[in-house]
Amino acid sequence: MSFDLTKLVRSNIQKLVAYSSARDEFSGEAKVFLDANENSLGSPLLKWYNRYPDPHQRAIKQKLSVIKGIAPEHIFLGNGSDECIDLLFRCFCEPGKDNVIICPPTYGMYEVSANINDVVVKKAPLLEDFQLDLVHLETLVDGNTKLIWLCSPNNPTGNALNRVDIETVLNNFNGIVVVDEAYINFAKQKSFIQELTDYPNLVVLQTLSKAWGLAGLRLGMAFASAAIIEVLDKVKPPYNINQATQELVLKALDEVGQVNDMIRLLVDMREALAEVFRSMPTVEKVYPSDANFLLVKIKEARKIYEFLLGKGIVLRDRSNVTLCEDCLRITVGTEQENTLLVDAMQDWYAQ
Ligand SMILES: *Cc1c(COP(=O)(O)O)cnc(C)c1O
Repeated sequence: MSFDLTKLVRSNIQKLVAYSSARDEFSGEAKVFLDANENSLGSPLLKWYNRYPDPHQRAIKQKLSVIKGIAPEHIFLGNGSDECIDLLFRCFCEPGKDNVIICPPTYGMYEVSANINDVVVKKAPLLEDFQLDLVHLETLVDGNTKLIWLCSPNNPTGNALNRVDIETVLNNFNGIVVVDEAYINFAKQKSFIQELTDYPNLVVLQTLSKAWGLAGLRLGMAFASAAIIEVLDKVKPPYNINQATQELVLKALDEVGQVNDMIRLLVDMREALAEVFRSMPTVEKVYPSDANFLLVKIKEARKIYEFLLGKGIVLRDRSNVTLCEDCLRITVGTEQENTLLVDAMQDWYAQ
């Protein structure tokens, strides 16, 4: 299989001359910066927020490259993974012409982003065990299929996809394979990041929103070949990662140990919560999870969802999602929150 990135990139993007910001044209040390029309007097917060942030987020990429064991030129940063998802559509999919493949039930943003960009979505639903249906998937690929979206561990099912299946897709598809690893820190399986050298068509998405506990800062990461990263960089808004986020993320990235402790704790609590739910009389199945949530198949799911809502506990009702009939998705909470949930379930059974 010969992979030719230039054939995949939309022709207008191929030809695009990227916007050159003030900070691109001059980024060195200087005494006086009068090139970006900022407010030279400062800002109400008495900090340096009057200045535009680094459009290339060099400091963050440097730290991430050490943590992830990958060179900075293989890293793209977005305003959440959601920006990375949108950019992949805008860089590679011709509206009204190209198509992509998703494997539902999966993360809803792929389809929404496709619809926003007027890109056709083809669906190869997961099999009963929530693994890929490779036979079906292959039949959907045509000359205009640009992206295949794989989510592992998958949301809302919680399981990781079989590694060999992902490799099969990577080896046989001549477009781009996106592997969304938002929950990889909670999984037993290892990341595909280290496989980037083997697969020029691979894009791995990760985020600081889950294990890192920084959903409010909005930082998503795409890891790919330097050539793919260059395309994403050309299309992104110049200052997509704001100064406050860059500063706070830089500090947070020093706390890998603390994050690993939280991951261990969340995984332990996930397994404990799974045990409790398995013992409940109307629970039909607690699906195995490699994420920080559980998918629970339970009789009267919708009614339980509403009952818990009445007690101020919000779950995600997935009961009308195909293959997730009667299912609730439950994020692992704090020890206290999990206890509140289990107590409320006892009230449900006692009424
Ligand atoms: C939560 C989640 C994300 C995270 O998106 P951000 O925009 O980075 O917060 C991405 N993919 C999946 C599958 C998710 O569940």
